[in-house]
Amino acid sequence: MATGTLGLDSSLREYLLRVSVDETEAQRQLRAETASLPNAVMQISPEQGQFMRLLVELTGASRAIEVGTFTGYSALSVALALPADGRLVACDISEEYTRIGQKYWQQAGVSERIDLRIGPAIESLDQLLDDGEAANFDFAFIDADKPNYRAYYERCLELLRPGGLLAVDNVLWGGSVANPDDERPETAAIRALNDHIRQDERVSQSLVPIGDGVMLARKH
Ligand code: CA
Repeated sequence: MATGTLGLDSSLREYLLRVSVDETEAQRQLRAETASLPNAVMQISPEQGQFMRLLVELTGASRAIEVGTFTGYSALSVALALPADGRLVACDISEEYTRIGQKYWQQAGVSERIDLRIGPAIESLDQLLDDGEAANFDFAFIDADKPNYRAYYERCLELLRPGGLLAVDNVLWGGSVANPDDERPETAAIRALNDHIRQDERVSQSLVPIGDGVMLARKH
């Protein structure tokens, strides 16, 4: 589901990858290592990694937040696009998975740019707010446990500067957001956040159907 793009057949996806994705060696190896793990579908697709690199460049971001790092492919993509003195605060609960990423962050020469915080992300984000970091970030990516999406969204929005960009992953949830019979809590939480963003006057938004769907919200 997340390792490709919904609704693209394999030959068209092959073409898209060929003409638009240039992965670094570290990204390629990290993706290969992650593919062998039982939770491999949690990794974003290479076309989405490419897209996020471009988003970071477009926003001129130097300070970024990630909620949900897993094995570190998205963090690596973001960090590659940050300036040398840029910083990504990466939040995750798993030492085991993030350790895989750290190896490749090192290999890519961007580990200095990544400030990994292990623990419940709500606590890490609240800590940033307590440290006076509100409105100090340019870019945020949310890709963690879905029932907490709204809580992550509210905190990230506070941490973003006006004009900052928020990207929320898996907002199409394999297509199940459009299936009224799907009442799983994850699906309900994603639907609720999508609906909330649609009417949230603090942001302008666009849902981009890349990967498993990425909601972009720009803070006014
Ligand atoms: Ca995801």
